Amino acid sequence: MALIVQKFGGTSVGSTEKIKAVAERVLARQRQGHQMVVVLSAMSGETNRLVALAGDIQKIPSLREMDMLLATGEQVTIALFAMAAKEAGGDAISLLADQVCIHTDAMHTKARIENIDTQLIRKHLASGKIVAVAGFQGVDDDGDITTLGRGGSDTTAVALAAALQADVCEIFTDVEGIYTTDPGICKNATKIDRISYDEMLELASLGAKVLDIRSVGLAKRYGVPVHVRSTFSENEGTWVVGEEKIMESMLVSGVTYSKNVARITINKVPDNPGVAAKIFLPISDAGIIVDMIIQNTRAGSLTDMTFTVMRTDYQRAMKLLRKIAKEINAESVTGAEDIAKISVVGVGMRNHSGIASTMFQIMANEGINIMMISTSEIKVSCIIEEKYTELTVRALHDAFALDKENVPQEEQTPVPVS
Ligand code: ADP
Ligand code: ASP
Ligand code: MG
Repeated sequence: MALIVQKFGGTSVGSTEKIKAVAERVLARQRQGHQMVVVLSAMSGETNRLVALAGDIQKIPSLREMDMLLATGEQVTIALFAMAAKEAGGDAISLLADQVCIHTDAMHTKARIENIDTQLIRKHLASGKIVAVAGFQGVDDDGDITTLGRGGSDTTAVALAAALQADVCEIFTDVEGIYTTDPGICKNATKIDRISYDEMLELASLGAKVLDIRSVGLAKRYGVPVHVRSTFSENEGTWVVGEEKIMESMLVSGVTYSKNVARITINKVPDNPGVAAKIFLPISDAGIIVDMIIQNTRAGSLTDMTFTVMRTDYQRAMKLLRKIAKEINAESVTGAEDIAKISVVGVGMRNHSGIASTMFQIMANEGINIMMISTSEIKVSCIIEEKYTELTVRALHDAFALDKENVPQEEQTPVPVS
């Protein structure tokens, strides 16, 4: 008998018919003799609908109230799922995060799970019930509802799997697994059979929203085997596992993009020691994550500071930075939301040079202007105009020969560029 945590995403539970099908599938697995914990997302489109409702009322919504609102989506699906399981002849109980309890910090809209009490879940499992837990939500010290950030149900599932020492965490979604790039925008994308936690961390942090980055971090830390697979087929998906279980490393394993990015420039900042801290400390205190940072020196001890933030934090960041700019005597704050970040990722890059230059050349061939660049051991990222996102992803995917299924790229040279 295994203990299995399964998570079903928004499209998998997008209608009552789909919820019934999910309940049948979970019941069938339970009847094979397994204990089942099921984490559900809100029905597809629901969280976006709630975000839009809030936006109609407050331009920068109160974060505590935002969480109160957003957490309702998952309450609907767990209740409907439990009803569907009972209707299909099984027994299930739905639980909200504060009933479980899934304890988080108080950083509303991007809270972190601190600990999970597994007692109640174990009690219900022991009595033969399927336990349906609301994804994406938690409860803080004050008893307030928190949410974990968009896509956070994956994190709920992996955190539960770790706390319960489950045998596997299965992430059911609307694609067959993890691909070399988003199959939604590139028809040549190929499914990856196995990927290491580290590579997946990089893909997720750079926009492959098929897994929430924090779920991958937790899976790595607690050694949870994660199987990403389709709700709509029985096919084997992608296993996310430790690097020691991967036979061959790929030079480039994937191309990602993120449109949840915005660029901000503080113009003509007096270039004194401590000025960066004065800018970035209040930003981090406000829970705003800064990604790429570029500092340009101008003549006359002035500098321009350009950096990126998540687009969802853009309005809050601009408001805060206008205040900071006055305090440090900077001239102005400007920004743009119509940008995107495109990245090429692969652990094989550690031992190879030339990936970055190939990437820049391909973009040059397509006439795409690069606004910012950042590199690490296993990735190269470029900021470009948002409207060229799909074109760039497809061009890079082709150039790095990612459509050639299961060919180890260690021996493969990237397609020559003119
Ligand atoms: P769910 O609602 O099940 O959580 P998401 O929409 O969050 O599903 O994630 C699945 C989607 O992620 C896919 O439909 C696909 O468009 C997108 N995606 C982006 N990059 C990748 C990738 N590298 N592999 C697979 N899917 C990807
Ligand atoms: N419903 C939440 C969202 O849309 C959480 C999730 O689906 O993982 O972001
Ligand atoms: Mg998701």
